[in-house]
Amino acid sequence: MSGLSDSFQRPVDYLRISVTDRCNMRCVYCMPPEGVPILPRIDILTYEEIRDVVEAAAELGISKVRLSGGEPLLRSGIVDLVRSLAAIRGIDDLSSTTNGMLLYDLAADLKSAGLKRVNVSLDSLREDRFRSITRCGDLNLVLRGIEVAKTVGLTPVKINVVAMRGVNDDEIEDFALKTVRDGWHVRFIELMPFAIGHTKADEFIGVPEIRKRIEVLGPLEPAKIIKGNGPAKYFRLPGASGTVGFISPVTEHFCFGCNRLRLTADGKLRPCLLSDSEIDLRPALRSGDRAQVRRVIREAVACKPRQHELVKGRIPRRAMRQIGG
Ligand code: SAM
Ligand code: SF4
Repeated sequence: MSGLSDSFQRPVDYLRISVTDRCNMRCVYCMPPEGVPILPRIDILTYEEIRDVVEAAAELGISKVRLSGGEPLLRSGIVDLVRSLAAIRGIDDLSSTTNGMLLYDLAADLKSAGLKRVNVSLDSLREDRFRSITRCGDLNLVLRGIEVAKTVGLTPVKINVVAMRGVNDDEIEDFALKTVRDGWHVRFIELMPFAIGHTKADEFIGVPEIRKRIEVLGPLEPAKIIKGNGPAKYFRLPGASGTVGFISPVTEHFCFGCNRLRLTADGKLRPCLLSDSEIDLRPALRSGDRAQVRRVIREAVACKPRQHELVKGRIPRRAMRQIGG
């Protein structure tokens, strides 16, 4: 295994897979209230096809895989998919990003099947607000899911918070305090503009401002990166066993360290989350020729842009739920 690297010499060892574009929530920044047309089933990669992609990717040096969506835990048979991917030689970190609604039921089985850890998206600690942001989420169910995930060892559980001015920014301090009181690992993510979903420019809050507001609680000391593959920078408040992380795709892009490739639910390799170019992997996959699959993966890695296109004012056309976030 020689390892993959792109044309800017960035090693690429991480594949994020959208296993479905369906979701049991309708978060305001991700979907319109009525939902969006879902992809026809025939277009969605089967589990066998996803396993073939991951096997080919592992042969090229991919060692970390994250299952996302849509809501990955909503796809039936997800535990079987996890089991089959966890068994692939070379995949040493298999994780998932979830809205947490089905974690309470599935965490133990996912852990036994070989999932290592989960990130849970949670934008409010207040029941009524959580429901209005997600339109159909149940905060208590998600909180119980987080606890079960910790108990069964899907750790570290990281909590992803998209901070939005006038929507949930008055909870920034509450989330930060959870790192002290309950040992949570909380990561604040800047709101990104997508063509689908309503992302209002005036709701955007940059990481520098979020950080300043947390520093009122105490100085933030740099913390060792907790297990992960991503662009977050981690800190600790005094006395906290948990960490505060910041992800700033807009105010301080981290493209220079980008190590990832994305696979959409309908089988397109996407070299960059925030740039629209994609390469269709399905013809190679459906030809049954593994060498072809590897060739297309290499091609997608070679196409990774130096940096994303938000900087040029271009907003991605595809929704996060199709790309996998
Ligand atoms: N349904 C799962 C969930 O919500 O965790 C996985 C898919 S979701 C698309 C992945 C992540 O993308 C979530 O943490 C969500 O908050 C984030 N996300 C979606 N739209 C976003 C946007 N416009 N800006 C920033 N983050 C966004
Ligand atoms: Fe669903 Fe995740 Fe999008 Fe929310 S952010 S609507 S949970 S895919």
